[in-house]
Amino acid sequence: MATTERDYYELLGVGRDASHAEIKSAFRRLARELHPDVSEEPDAELRFRAVAEAYEVLSDPERRRTYDRFGRAGLRGGGFSPMDADFGSLSDVFAAFFGETLFGQARSAGPRPTRGPDVAAQVEIDLADAVRGISLDVGVRVARSCETCGGTGAAPGTSPIMCPGCGGAGIVQQVSRTVLGQIVRSGACPRCDGAGRIVETPCERCEGDGRTLEDVPLELDVPAGIHDGQRIRVRGAGHAGTLGGPPGDVYVTVGIRPLEGIERDGDDLHVRASVTMTEAALGSTVTVPTPEGSFEVELPPGTQPGAVHTVRGRGMPSLETGRRGDLLAHVEVRVPTQLTAEQRAEVLRLERELGSEAYRDEDEGFLGRLKSAFR
Ligand SMILES: [Zn+2]
Ligand SMILES: [Zn+2]
Repeated sequence: MATTERDYYELLGVGRDASHAEIKSAFRRLARELHPDVSEEPDAELRFRAVAEAYEVLSDPERRRTYDRFGRAGLRGGGFSPMDADFGSLSDVFAAFFGETLFGQARSAGPRPTRGPDVAAQVEIDLADAVRGISLDVGVRVARSCETCGGTGAAPGTSPIMCPGCGGAGIVQQVSRTVLGQIVRSGACPRCDGAGRIVETPCERCEGDGRTLEDVPLELDVPAGIHDGQRIRVRGAGHAGTLGGPPGDVYVTVGIRPLEGIERDGDDLHVRASVTMTEAALGSTVTVPTPEGSFEVELPPGTQPGAVHTVRGRGMPSLETGRRGDLLAHVEVRVPTQLTAEQRAEVLRLERELGSEAYRDEDEGFLGRLKSAFR
């Protein structure tokens, strides 16, 4: 006998005197086994439909009585047409009877608490603040759980109802028949927008959303040594989650206002030490800028153009170790451009007097070092 013509009791594997509970559990077991989404057997779908049909009949006392007395013919006479049953309505039937889907996932398939979204914020600090580190108040606009309704979105004294369109699952299945067979599509329930619940009397403060946008202060600790454009994450300070989910985070991008004449390279700071040619020759004290104010650099006599004077520990603190980088002063020698005839003569006189001996560098310079390497 073909599966579809077999006796309903036989299909469910129960006796003719089986109780309602026995029929129910037999169907539950078979449905889990044969559901086309799970079973690998080629005729699983056919068997599943047959079993489902048997259950539809035997679980209904009146239909069962008709079937017991007159068989399938009696059912057809009574208007029952098993072909009306498709998987969409069957799972609805199943959910209604067992309070769960075939695999016991009705609840988890529904709307779950979700984590609130993250919030991006920006702040600008001075380079000096980046040297010391700074604590500041960053205002952020975030969604917070509404205090009036406790986040439910329902006016005080009322509560949201379960959506009748999806039974609270937030998802509905649409079944369409095509020449290739049956296609089941699931999508967000249009009645509740996938929320699974409907607020009938919305809370006035949040208009039923359960959350309100608020400007809240956020205490931000910017560590010493932070770099321009780095982001600081403040956990849990972002938008509130839904259905009691955790809040998101706030990511604050820290910008550093540039300081005229100071270039930062990692933890080192580069500045220009500008001297006249006489100062370079005789040695001098030059004032250079630093984030913490001006700083005096001692240049020795005979300082060459392009020389780099390093002041250890006057750079930026390292984010990792706190140890400070260096301040590097790049020497720039200014040469006069507007000499009078008299001054010109003076310079010439000095030049003749100096001779090439006066230009000998203690440190031979780059070319000198190259030469000695070949000697
Ligand atoms: Zn509210
Ligand atoms: Zn719904």
